[in-house]
Amino acid sequence: MSSTDSYPANASLLIVEDEPKIARLMADYLTGHHFAPTLIEHGDDVLAWLDANTPALVLLDLMLPGMDGTTLCREIRQRWPALPIIMVTAKVEEVDRLVGLEMGADDYICKPFSPREVVARVKAVLRRSRAAESAPIEATAPIAPVTLDDEGWMALAKGQDLGLTAVEFQLLRVMMHAPGRIFSREQLMDHMYRDNRIVSERTVDSHIKKLRKKITEALPEQEIIRSVYGVGYKYQPEG
Ligand code: CA
Repeated sequence: MSSTDSYPANASLLIVEDEPKIARLMADYLTGHHFAPTLIEHGDDVLAWLDANTPALVLLDLMLPGMDGTTLCREIRQRWPALPIIMVTAKVEEVDRLVGLEMGADDYICKPFSPREVVARVKAVLRRSRAAESAPIEATAPIAPVTLDDEGWMALAKGQDLGLTAVEFQLLRVMMHAPGRIFSREQLMDHMYRDNRIVSERTVDSHIKKLRKKITEALPEQEIIRSVYGVGYKYQPEG
């Protein structure tokens, strides 16, 4: 029994997905990990269900019959601001828009996904939202150890430019976008090179190694990029 999981056992989840096979796969896997999922296939049924029920999290497909995922995400964010949302989409090019300020989703999962990834992501988002809930207000926005200057393609630590290459910057940016999320080497490769060139997973490791070295030189007391054995990497500052 893990003591680090801060969400209740059998937490209720809402899965909004119109492809029965995918919905079933997600539901079965989540049930196997002690969640209690409810399935809704039609976008028009979601808001009414949420009026009557209080899930711990919503997994929301982007393309739905009836009210689409984009509209639903905005609507849920407005009416239930604390309810975590994970968008599920096959449109990789949409993800930047889904997460963050524009639509307010907490995270995203790209199709095709592995059920294991779904469970990992659900747990990570729940942990984050529980932590934000219980933390005092002034502590919910800690000062980031590294900040990004998107226009200059620069990463700064303690006000100093880390001198990252374009690829290192891109890797850091992708991971910082979803703190705590574990990225596989394959997912990172997709973000590194837009032209589908073939690179090996060892190339990713080598870029990450250089990136971590530059960060450690500026911030020797902190580990920010963590490797997750057998899975990949994540951005997770301490504290
Ligand atoms: Ca769909």
